[in-house]
Amino acid sequence: MSGKSDTTNSDPDIITLGVQPKATTIEGIAVEVAAIKLLLKILKTSVDEKLEYGGVIYRDQAGPIKHTGPFKGESAIKVDVGHNKDNWGCPQESTPLAWYHTHPLQKIQTSNMGEVTGLWDSFIGGDKGLSNDSGLTGYLATGDGRVWRYDPPREGGAMVPQKDGRMKWAPPALGKGIWGPLNLALYKR
Ligand SMILES: [Zn+2]
Repeated sequence: MSGKSDTTNSDPDIITLGVQPKATTIEGIAVEVAAIKLLLKILKTSVDEKLEYGGVIYRDQAGPIKHTGPFKGESAIKVDVGHNKDNWGCPQESTPLAWYHTHPLQKIQTSNMGEVTGLWDSFIGGDKGLSNDSGLTGYLATGDGRVWRYDPPREGGAMVPQKDGRMKWAPPALGKGIWGPLNLALYKR
């Protein structure tokens, strides 16, 4: 899932690099392992077909980690993971925990300019918005076999001073998240 803007905009306020993101809770690790497995399993198909794939990882009522998808995307830069559906397309009583998708191509064909190098290893535009608006961690696999993680800002918003001296509420969605590649060696058994 990434809009056209991914190929044309460089988002200057994007994310803090240099932090190795990794799951630190038992549930977080379970979600991360699930995301990595799902992504690496579908990645070759995604690259071969030049289509994004993606879905949602959730906890069902009884406790286990489950997932939707991987759903086949409609193009190399777009997949509907179900975010417009009730509860992200997960069962009603379940809790979405993360979403995952692929960026199969480093170079993306555009309708007017031919081939451009997309920011395939970035989490910007629609991707970032989806995580920021929902608070869900986003997992991404790029066609070169790397798996990435984006954590939206989870801290509460803050009052920030405006030019006129007045304070204004800035919601957390406008803050920075944490982004970076995962060290897959950590997950090898
Ligand atoms: Zn994307």
